[in-house]
Formats: sequence, C-alpha cells, structure tokens
Amino acid sequence: MRTDTVIIGGGLSGLTCGIALAKRGQRVTIVASGQSTLLFNGGSMELLGNIDGIAVTTPLEAIGTLPQSHPYSKIGADKIAGLADEAKQLLADAGIDMEGNASANHWRITPMGVAKPAWLTLKENLRIDDLDKLPAKRVALMCIRGYFDQPNGMLAQGLRELGFDVKAIEFTTDDITSLRRSPSEMRATTLAKRLISNSALQRIADQINNLSDDAELVLLPSVFGQTDATDFQTLQSMVKKPLRFVATLPPSVAGGRIQALLRHYFKMLGGNYLMGDSAVSGQFDGDKLLGVTTAKLGDMPLKANNFVLASGSFISRGLVANYERVFEPVFDLDVDADGEREQWTRFGVLEPQAYSRYGVATDNDLRCMKDGKPIQNLRAIGSVLSGHDAVKMGDGTGVSMLTALAVTKGIISGK
Ligand SMILES: Cc1cc2nc3c(=O)[nH]c(=O)nc-3n(C[C@H](O)[C@H](O)[C@H](O)COP(=O)(O)OP(=O)(O)OC[C@H]3O[C@@H](n4cnc5c(N)ncnc54)[C@H](O)[C@@H]3O)c2cc1C
Repeated sequence: MRTDTVIIGGGLSGLTCGIALAKRGQRVTIVASGQSTLLFNGGSMELLGNIDGIAVTTPLEAIGTLPQSHPYSKIGADKIAGLADEAKQLLADAGIDMEGNASANHWRITPMGVAKPAWLTLKENLRIDDLDKLPAKRVALMCIRGYFDQPNGMLAQGLRELGFDVKAIEFTTDDITSLRRSPSEMRATTLAKRLISNSALQRIADQINNLSDDAELVLLPSVFGQTDATDFQTLQSMVKKPLRFVATLPPSVAGGRIQALLRHYFKMLGGNYLMGDSAVSGQFDGDKLLGVTTAKLGDMPLKANNFVLASGSFISRGLVANYERVFEPVFDLDVDADGEREQWTRFGVLEPQAYSRYGVATDNDLRCMKDGKPIQNLRAIGSVLSGHDAVKMGDGTGVSMLTALAVTKGIISGK
C-alpha cells in the first residue's frame, strides 16, 4: 500500500499533521493503535505554562528563552506565533471552538480546583483572564448526586482560595437517578451519552434554576456534549444565569470530543485512519525509511515518501523502558535519556520526574536520529520528542500541534 505520508499515532499530534497534509492535497494514512492522551484533556490546550516552577503569563516572550534542545527552539521561536494561530484555526475548522491566544496565557481550572496557565480553552469551559478580576463573585457549583469523577470538596475549596464565594449544591433528576442503579454508569462519558434529549436537559436546567439562588455564575461538571457544543448551548438557553462547565477527572468528555472531531475532519479530507493497528517495524535503506510493517497488514508494509512518528510518550508506548534502557520500540531510534536507571525517576509522586523529558533525538528539522545520523524521510512530532516536559512545563499540547504543523511545512516544501 503506497501513500504520500504515513503517520504512526493518531493522537493530537498525528491528527494535526494528517489534517494539515491532507488539506494540502497529500494522501495520508494514520496508523493508530489505541486511545490517545486527549482523554485526559479537560478542554484546554497549553503552549507554555511554567518555567522553573514560575507561571508563564506571556508564552511567546518566554519561548525565546528556552534552550536549543526544546522543540520550540528547533522550530524557531520567531515562527511560534504564526503556527499557534494556524493551530487555533485548524481546531475551529474541525468544529472545536476555543478561546485564547498565544501572546497571553489565561487560567484554566483543573478538576482539583487549581488554576493553571492555558493557551486555549473551549468556549463553554470556565476560563479566567485575570485572577485579580474574577468573572463573577457568587458561584453555584452544581454537584451531580452520585457522580464520583468530580472531587467537589477540593474543587470548591480551590475556587474559594481563588476568591470565589462558592455554594456547592447537590442535585439530581429522574434520568440521573435511573443511571445510578449501576455505579459504573456514573462516568462522564456515560452521562454525556444519556443526558442528551431536550427533556433531560430541561429537567437539569429546572433544578439549576430552582437551586442556584443569588449566584452570578453557575458551574456544572463537563459531562455534556460528546459530539459537539450544542448540548451546552441548549442548557445555557434554559438556565437563567451564565453557565460554564468545569473539567472532570478522566476519561474526559471534552477531550474525547476533540479527538473524535479531529478524526472525523481528517477522514472528511480523504485521510485513511487505520484504527486499532500498530506499526511494529520499519525497513531502511541507508538513511531512508522505505516502509512500515503493521501488526494487522503483516507482509504488506505501508510505503510512502515520508513518515512521521507521532506515537506519544511512555503512557502511549511511544517510548518504553526495561531494566537496561529507555527505547523507541518501532524503529529503535536514538533516544535522549539518562543512562542510569536510578536517574529516571524520583521517589515522590509529585516531584518533577526526569523521564517526562525523555524522547527520541532529532535534528533541527525534527528528523529522527538512528545510530547518530538523521533518517531523511522520518520526522517526529508531539510527546515522543525529547527536550520538553508536558507535566512540568505545561507545553504538551502546544508542542504536539506546533511540531506537527512545522513538520507539515518541511514535508510539503521537501526540505
Ligand atoms: C495524564 C496526562 C494529562 C494531560 N493533561 C493535559 C492537559 O490538561 N492540558 C494539556 O494541554 N495537555 C495535557 N497533557 C499533555 C497532552 O495530552 C499531550 O502532550 C498531547 O496530547 C500528546 O499528543 P500526542 O499525539 O503527541 O501523543 P498521544 O496522545 O500519546 O498519542 C499517541 C498515539 O500514538 C499511538 N501509538 C503509539 N505507538 C504506536 C504504534 N506503534 N503504532 C500505532 N500507533 C501507536 C497511541 O496509541 C496514541 O494513540 C496531558 C498528558 C497526560 C499524559
């Protein structure tokens, strides 16, 4: 099977790259072995949130100070603003409406009630531009009875510490009560599938209108809108006060929707998405990759002019560690990682972990290195790349989208 470009991995980076290439007329195949880390994403994207533990307010300026090993520096700090605008437009074209811009971070609220710097946030989610000017004072935090994936106590406490006057209000409706017969049904994704009819939404809105007293803003867990934002719009038209969603623990409805909409858009543009298949090895001729063998296609390797590795970090098995080493399992590419096993991790769960900045080594055009030399037609994007740290620096989704768009330009221009 021959196409112009084969992408390994169908998460945010692989899909961004696939969409951008398909839009430019390329035939693209994505091999996607499983779920992506978008299922952990509560509806915000981060470009650069932290440097040395200090929150970044103006990411474009801060990006200029990053070391040369960071993927943004490889792309070129002067190109980041343009690529960030392109990424936001790509999301909008896929039906994902987000607010924010790259020149100034806003604040997103985590399920634990912590404010974190963010670049883009879904329009229906709570987003704070300035912590000294909250969008409202009195807030009704609506808590669904029996729903465990929103730690209401911590969320309410976190919001209070930010200066909100929070009233946590438990509620239920007949539709929710019927789901509670099985506790496993009370997950965000199940609620989002079941609470879709206008009558179910109206019953929820009635409860909110009855219980939210003098609140200026109503907050609801983000358990609505698996396919688009219309459930939010319907609810907002029924609720008499301004309404915003707050992120839940994973699996996240918002992240699942972003993944589904990007995949749908990629397929609409003619892209070929091989769901549930995995790349297992590659055939090389010197510094060129000729083809990729997959688990399902067996002895019919995927052949292409260009290949892109978008297989994610350890959590997605884009990187693997055994007792001896950290390695990239498909092509055995060069990896930037500490040699000694003791250096990989620290004991405290909340301590910064060295392994979270490990990844495949690339040249400045993001070409993958193997045995110290760049493979001319194999580039890496997203969280499989070394030199960044989604957890510590809050740069994961930005690196995913912007390296994908930068690599697209390299492939199209033949550079
Ligand atoms: C727990 C967690 C929470 C996060 N929360 C946030 C957040 O709130 N906000 C934020 O901005 N960022 C967050 N991030 C970071 C962000 O989600 C990621 O940086 C970004 O989405 C990574 O996208 P990716 O496509 O590079 O990798 P992934 O999402 O990991 O996708 C890689 C894909 O490749 C597939 N794959 C792997 N190997 C193969 C193979 N051999 N063949 C075929 N397919 C393969 C995997 O199955 C997976 O689908 C979080 C990350 C994690 C881990």
